Amino acid sequence: MPDDANPAGHPKHGFATRMSHAARPPIRALGFVNPPVHRGSTVTAQSCEARRENAKHRYNRVMTYGTQGGPTHYALEDVVTEIEGGTHCTITGTGLAAVAVPLLAWLKAGDRCLMPDSVYGPGRNLAENVLPGWGIETQFYDPCIDAAGLEALWTPNTRVLYLESPGSHTFEVQDVPALTAVAKRHGAVSMIDNTWGIHSFQPFAHGCDVSIQALTKYVGGHSDILLGSITVASEVHHHIIRNTASAMGHYASPDDCWLALRGVRTMPLRLKHQTESSLEVAAWLAKRPEVMQVRHPALPGAPGHEIWKRDFDGGCSLFGIVFQPRYTEADIFRFVDGLKLFGIGASWGGYECLALPTNGMLVRRVTPELPGQAVRLHIGLEEVPDIIADLEQALALLPR
Ligand SMILES: *Cc1c(COP(=O)(O)O)cnc(C)c1O
Repeated sequence: MPDDANPAGHPKHGFATRMSHAARPPIRALGFVNPPVHRGSTVTAQSCEARRENAKHRYNRVMTYGTQGGPTHYALEDVVTEIEGGTHCTITGTGLAAVAVPLLAWLKAGDRCLMPDSVYGPGRNLAENVLPGWGIETQFYDPCIDAAGLEALWTPNTRVLYLESPGSHTFEVQDVPALTAVAKRHGAVSMIDNTWGIHSFQPFAHGCDVSIQALTKYVGGHSDILLGSITVASEVHHHIIRNTASAMGHYASPDDCWLALRGVRTMPLRLKHQTESSLEVAAWLAKRPEVMQVRHPALPGAPGHEIWKRDFDGGCSLFGIVFQPRYTEADIFRFVDGLKLFGIGASWGGYECLALPTNGMLVRRVTPELPGQAVRLHIGLEEVPDIIADLEQALALLPR
């Protein structure tokens, strides 16, 4: 019986083993399996002198006030660091906050950011409609750009290379090592939204400095919380992130962190099962005459599959389908409305199937539109034959 139930980081242990043991309290602390929820604003000190001393160590989990987080946040930070690699993590109240904080931490008036055209929509909104007011310019680039193409877009004031791979809704897989090498050469910071690649893509091994997660998705796993994380691989970057997040008042509910800690224990199984189901469904859809293209990076023959094979060690159950160009938006709405097992909604990573028409999200792109109406599918824990039967009956609603 180990005295400390936390052998996380053991290099020989598999993912599910590490997720089962990460950030659990030592047995000597009462013996309960899970960490408790610590709620709190006030943190009292032993003495005035102790409080003054504690305030000098605010980056080192010495608590003087609730906004710096508490033990429940720190447990979740440790779990996310275990998943992503890196050395330090900061939890935020939403995934979108985890997108915004690192951008605001590094970009100042006069700076420029490079962002892929396929970026998560609300991140694009921040770059297009908020950052310009603060003197920060964003250039959107083709997510499939190579190193030479990126080099050609570079200017002396480009401070941040933002990546998201695969891209939201369109699932382009980026050549992350080649692109981050360009940023490194110019002394810029590379940040990636790694929500799709959670576990299967190791951002720091591919040259990224900052990794963003919407923990809302598979870590939460039950469509009942919003949370984000920012993980870095250096003490200096950690201080920059912590200070910016704290200065802007970012905070996450400890109750939500506790739910995320509960969700993450089963995440390896959910992720594996849902990914396998999604590949069966994707392969079935690829053979349907109504479907022109399936955009699931883990599906052989899909766009980006070769880079996925080189850089990823698994996938997830979120992918896109592009319909034959003869179908109208009204046809596709009829198909999605006709699905009985799929909810129509945003977010993903929960236990349930979701469908979302996505073409409307792509209008402002600088790179070409997808050639037909597109729908994003998230495959849940429902049985594959039931999912396929549901898709089949809904496809039958399309005009012949
Ligand atoms: C959902 C999502 C986010 C934002 O997460 P929220 O917690 O919903 O704010 C960011 N990036 C990607 C890729 C997402 O799918």
